[in-house]
Amino acid sequence: MEGIERSRKRSRQREEILAVLRSTKEHPTAAMLHTAARRRIPRLSLGTVYRNLDVLEEMGLVLHIRNGNAQDRFDGDVSPHYHFVCDACGAVLDMPLPYRPELDEAAAREGFRVRGHRLDFHGTCPACSKP
Ligand SMILES: [Zn+2]
Ligand SMILES: [Zn+2]
Repeated sequence: MEGIERSRKRSRQREEILAVLRSTKEHPTAAMLHTAARRRIPRLSLGTVYRNLDVLEEMGLVLHIRNGNAQDRFDGDVSPHYHFVCDACGAVLDMPLPYRPELDEAAAREGFRVRGHRLDFHGTCPACSKP
């Protein structure tokens, strides 16, 4: 019985984290997700958020954006798309450019079995570029 309760609790936490992630375009950090999800699940720990993000990534439901020295970001939109990372404010934005399958094809011609590619642009976002 207790095992069932525990797994119900676990899946509720996972669903809540995914719901928060899917409701935003901000590509939040784990800490930002933790703050938002705690409004619904007050006792949720940051460690639990990290564990759930790992599981969701493994399930292919979450995109993990590894961000060099800055904090990693997470995306509930797993369709192929590109990102822009702002050097000034740290924002991670969706880049409104179409996915380029010809890059996958070119890589495949080099003998690689290609599952897809990701592309992060870096520079200054439109808001930070304003004089
Ligand atoms: Zn910016
Ligand atoms: Zn995105």
